[in-house]
Amino acid sequence: MNIIIFGPPGAGKGTQSKFIVKKFKLYQLSTGDLLRNEINNKTKLGLEISSIINSGELVSDNIVSNLIEKFISNDTYKNKTIFDGYPRTLNQAKNLDNLLKKYKQKINIVLKLSVSLETVKKRIMERQAQEKRADDNEDVAIKRYQTYEKSCEPVIDYYKHSNLLKVINGEAEISEINSEISGLIDAIKG
Ligand code: AMP
Repeated sequence: MNIIIFGPPGAGKGTQSKFIVKKFKLYQLSTGDLLRNEINNKTKLGLEISSIINSGELVSDNIVSNLIEKFISNDTYKNKTIFDGYPRTLNQAKNLDNLLKKYKQKINIVLKLSVSLETVKKRIMERQAQEKRADDNEDVAIKRYQTYEKSCEPVIDYYKHSNLLKVINGEAEISEINSEISGLIDAIKG
């Protein structure tokens, strides 16, 4: 079972991914977390990408592709991955298809959490107070929302055509979203 989870910043992708990981015994691959680790560890890559991330833009497709190939090629995670924050461009979606083919895997379901810009702004401000992420402030949140809308729409269309896409109301209570997602995953597990 491989899952993709989509949603703008503050949609609850991280929260829902952690729930799915626990319930269905999967591994979370969050490109945002991997990139933030690089920044926190002050690696060469981290120094290169910190200003891009802090401005709400996407880092280059090549950088994230290298990070995810390391994960997909690892047998521990084979057919047990939830992709959180990847793919975010059409190019990345095609790259993911190629990598999955190469390592004899596939995507089983794509979950899209829908939330409004107003909710995103509110949640980001709450998260800012708790987690102190450098890219969590109102201006950058708006920029990240716009970046998401612009770059992810074609990706969402791509998965719509393959009939894998399920749209979920990300404004609902966390527990309601948990149950909806569980139902969808149980249904495809058969
Ligand atoms: P996230 O934690 O998923 O909201 O990601 C935080 C930031 O990391 C994004 O705003 C981007 O700058 C960068 N990032 C994460 N995933 C990707 C990706 N798949 N492609 C390009 N940039 C990414």
